[in-house]
This record gives sequence, structure tokens and C-alpha cells, in this order.
Amino acid sequence: MQYLSEFSFNVISLEEIVSCIHENRHFPHRSVAITFDDGFKNNYDIAYPVLKVYGFKATIFLVTGYCGRNNRWQGQPAEIPELDLLQWDEIKVMASNGIDFGAHTVNHPNLAELTLKQAEDEIVDSKKEIEERLGKNISHFAYPYGGETGKLRNILKDEFQCAVSTELNVATLGSDIYSLPRIDMYYFSRNNYFTCVGTSNFSHYIRYRKFLRTLRTFI
Ligand SMILES: [Zn+2]
Repeated sequence: MQYLSEFSFNVISLEEIVSCIHENRHFPHRSVAITFDDGFKNNYDIAYPVLKVYGFKATIFLVTGYCGRNNRWQGQPAEIPELDLLQWDEIKVMASNGIDFGAHTVNHPNLAELTLKQAEDEIVDSKKEIEERLGKNISHFAYPYGGETGKLRNILKDEFQCAVSTELNVATLGSDIYSLPRIDMYYFSRNNYFTCVGTSNFSHYIRYRKFLRTLRTFI
């Protein structure tokens, strides 16, 4: 966050990204949107105070059936560390102070593996619960495990302004707003790699990481 601030990045909302794509209007110079998946308690304890210091916007995607619990949902690989998730009172505090919330289903399933009706319930019920708890319209969605299909997209178009995927890439004016790519900062956390964001080395590094990811999937 300090790096983004020092190098004058424009931290914009997902809504602004969607508006630019709809209107075919260039993103502001050096734009980034910050998102967090799953709604970990550390988003409130650690990330939120830092975001406040810099006045940065962010969107947090909640797994509504697990708020106030931990990330041990069905299908969670054993090697993933157990982490507490946000309580609704923490979510409400952040929602009143510039943090956006989006839906990330009720139970964090891979939607591509469910029936269409089950997937629709996961999508719609998570949106409804956040809207009821926060008293505001929820317009962003994140696919758990990046599991998306063409049929799901029709449901999402009725309910949301945009959906974010796990495709490792930068968003462009040509991006599909129901499958917006993102750059997982996990890959940038070592050796200050994030300092290549916005430089010519950035696209090379993304291509390299994508290659490794494809290779791993293949193996
Ligand atoms: Zn997730």
C-alpha cells in the first residue's frame, strides 16, 4: 500500500472499472482495484487499518454461511491453514467506512460442479444476506476457485454489475465484466516483486507465473 501511494497509483473501485469498460473510457493512469476473497478476520485486524491510512478503497468478497466462523468449508484442502473469518459487526464497521462488500457464495463450493439450481441458490442467497445485513445493494461477485460456466453468467447478469475470476491477468477495456481477471498478490509477496507493478517487467512476470500455474495444473 505504501508503494502504491508513493508511486501515485490510482486506487479505484470495481464500480469505476465497470463504468470505464461500459463506456469504453480509458482507466485512470496507473489504476488498480484492491480485492480480498473469503473475508478473513485479518482483513479487519490488519488490512483495514492500513487501507484507512492511505484512504484506499477495497472490495471484500464474503462467504456468508461462514461469517463469524473459520475457513474450514467442505472441500477445503487440508494444507490450507485454518483462519478466522469476519464477524458481521466488523463487516458493518468497514461497510460504513468506505469498504465495499461482494458475494462469494454461501458455502464456497465450486459452482461449476453444482446443478444450476444449487448454484443459483448459492449466488442469490449470499447476495441477499449481505444486502439484508448491510442495508445496501450488493453488485459484485467472486467465483470460488474460479469455477465459472456460461450458464452461471446469465444468473450473475441479473444480479450483479460484475464478477471477478481467478484468471491471472490485468483487466483491460476488452475484459468481460462477468469474468474480470485479477493479479493474485501472493505471487508478488516475496522479494519485493510487487515493485515491478506498473513497469515493463510486470507483464513478463505475469506471463512467467501463468506458465508455472499451467504447468502445475498439467502435472
Ligand atoms: Zn474463495
